[in-house]
Amino acid sequence: MNFVFPAPPTASVPVLDSEQRFPVHRIYCVGRNYADHAREMGAEVNRSQPTFFLKPADVVVTDGGDVPYPSATNDLHHEVEMVVALHSGGRDIPVESALHHVYGYGVGLDLTRRDLQAVAKAKSLPWDVAKGFDASAPVSALRAVGAGAHPQHATLSLLVNDEPRQNSDISEMIFNVAEIIHELSKLFELTAGDLIFTGTPAGVAALARGDVFEATLGGVASLRGRIV
Ligand code: MN
Repeated sequence: MNFVFPAPPTASVPVLDSEQRFPVHRIYCVGRNYADHAREMGAEVNRSQPTFFLKPADVVVTDGGDVPYPSATNDLHHEVEMVVALHSGGRDIPVESALHHVYGYGVGLDLTRRDLQAVAKAKSLPWDVAKGFDASAPVSALRAVGAGAHPQHATLSLLVNDEPRQNSDISEMIFNVAEIIHELSKLFELTAGDLIFTGTPAGVAALARGDVFEATLGGVASLRGRIV
């Protein structure tokens, strides 16, 4: 291909116990997928339709890399989330076959400029600048499902400077993984390389420069990093 300048590198995520990396196509995110977090944000719990937004693929931070404190905010928040990685996709995927498209699972932070999100909500504006900023998606190495089972129960937790901040279980999700894939595929053609952040439980709070975070999806994946 004869590009007018060198094409940007492909964002990618490491895979546990493998030399190969998972190339990232898109990052989809689910909002308000745990009732306790919806309540702490003063939002109503909507069990009929998930809330979706996207982040650019190249905002992933991998391999425990440092996360620079973003510009234009005084209230950077953590949201620990299970991350689903797809190795195939399609449109209008039935719930019954949705998990066939899952390559593996990881854990990540949906970093949020909460002050900008509050302004966006108040003015009914899009969430892009609150959610899709540079380095806003630290992600662990992915654990491939292979012949193994899809986790139905797993502790989802976040420590900041060794202090517990968030702790829940993925069984608390309002929409489960199959339902999320089904609903997303009605809106977008899903494809290999898509990552899905599946929502955060209660306990979201501010991060400061120098904070060390440790996110864990019990028995599946873990992520350590630092705000700089
Ligand atoms: Mn989130």
